[in-house]
Amino acid sequence: MASTLFSRTRTRTEPEVITEPWPEIGETWKPEGVTVAERYANLVGTVVLVYNADSCYHVIACLGCHYLASTDNNRSYDTRYGLKDASKAANEHASICRALPRDIPARPDEHAARARLHTWVVAMSRRDEDRRLHLSDFDSGRLILQRTNEWIETELRSFAAGRPDVLTATPSEYSPSFDYKVLRLAS
Ligand SMILES: [Zn+2]
Repeated sequence: MASTLFSRTRTRTEPEVITEPWPEIGETWKPEGVTVAERYANLVGTVVLVYNADSCYHVIACLGCHYLASTDNNRSYDTRYGLKDASKAANEHASICRALPRDIPARPDEHAARARLHTWVVAMSRRDEDRRLHLSDFDSGRLILQRTNEWIETELRSFAAGRPDVLTATPSEYSPSFDYKVLRLAS
């Protein structure tokens, strides 16, 4: 019956799909785990995104060239981007980028996403000291990973269980979440 087709309500398990077309760009990509705050397109149609994932920090990513920036070089060392400065820098990049639009990254399968996350954690362990791990440490990779914060946390706990020499996950004293620490890899 036709009426059932139209009256069907979305169930809990179905992903929510909202299209917010940017008519001047025609790009509606919504990678999982990422909130795209702004989009800029240049004359050749290359799109530069400003997004955030876990935190109020913003990342700029060009879908044409490989430009990716999470820290503001105009400010003191290692200052993460707020929305306003990120927007300005993204707009500037869009105006000078000469790259042609690339295809948006495909969502990796579970195996590939897990391998990617593990590689990042192991890379972080190649430092001089143990270091607290924050989800925002993965912000720059979120367009590649395309997974939710919950997925990342589940994987981190599972990784910590298998590789306690690299990563520890302990229930947080102050919140319902976990504290993660990347251990210095023994040489
Ligand atoms: Zn670019």
